[in-house]
Amino acid sequence: MTQHVTSQQTAHLQTAHPASVQQEIRSQRSGLSHSRPENQSHSQSNILLVFLDGVGLGEVNQSNPLSQPQAMPFLSDYLGQRLLKGAALTTANVTLKPIDATLGVEGLPQSASGQTTIYTGQNAAKFLGRHQSGFANGSLRQLIDQYGLFSKAIALNRTATLANAYSPEYFYAIAARKRRYSVCTLLNLSAGLPFRMQYEYEQGEAIFWDIVGAVPPARNARSLKQNGARAPITPAVAGERLARLSDRYGVTLFECYLSDYAGHAQDWNQAVACMQRIDRFLESVIAHLPAHVTLVITSDHGNIEDLSTKRHTLNKVPLIAIGPQAQSFSKSKDLTSIAPQILAVL
Ligand SMILES: [Zn+2]
Repeated sequence: MTQHVTSQQTAHLQTAHPASVQQEIRSQRSGLSHSRPENQSHSQSNILLVFLDGVGLGEVNQSNPLSQPQAMPFLSDYLGQRLLKGAALTTANVTLKPIDATLGVEGLPQSASGQTTIYTGQNAAKFLGRHQSGFANGSLRQLIDQYGLFSKAIALNRTATLANAYSPEYFYAIAARKRRYSVCTLLNLSAGLPFRMQYEYEQGEAIFWDIVGAVPPARNARSLKQNGARAPITPAVAGERLARLSDRYGVTLFECYLSDYAGHAQDWNQAVACMQRIDRFLESVIAHLPAHVTLVITSDHGNIEDLSTKRHTLNKVPLIAIGPQAQSFSKSKDLTSIAPQILAVL
């Protein structure tokens, strides 16, 4: 069943929820119309950052779906190698290198500290004294507020956008303290930027975290029902959408969590299918990538490359840069160097 949120339904939703949430959603909506993409000269560099949750570079073995050539046929061919331990490539337009995600802190790397590190350039695990999973509650917010990539890009007189599609239910759940903010949500909020909602999705200007829009962003069953099914798009269409957005903003960020879920599920077929979807998506992103945009792909920690454990791994993660600024990323050694390098080339 397709569910379009009509204005009547929106009115109902708004009366059913606290004024503060209504205000937040209104300001986000109106904010979008004010947030015009920059009218830039194409001599400026843009960055398209694609974050893939839980993708490490592992060994060739029966627990690593990425050791199967059919898991990422396009990317393997494009890079001339699979995404495995020691993967490396440097050409005029492509950098591929393994970078450290453990950040010098004991224990398995986790999402909130890893993502905060990627988006701030600050070692969030050292800052906390531990790796923090899940959400950016507590003191991580200080780092995001002070060093967030989006705010820093805006301070350089450039623009930034989060390409992920959000639902009103997500913000209601946060207001009701049933959910907590993700790192990228705080990154966007701290920069005062609007969120892309159903309207933007229907305009072809947003992408759900699963690339195709088959699963709503809220993961519990009730939210699934409330959100209803959306018209899914193909990975190729999603890739073209993202490449088009990246033409218009200094920094465009898209986050995909499929790979981390597949790793935790320890399901070989799910893992291969998810990497194939990501592969088709990336093929389309690269095919449509504007000449002045550099695509940067990275992850927060390993997971899917070792299905023998449902936990994260200590493996290095890939840093892939494709485009005119690719070589600028060749000196990166760990997650702290990504945000500063992006800001340096903007
Ligand atoms: Zn995880």
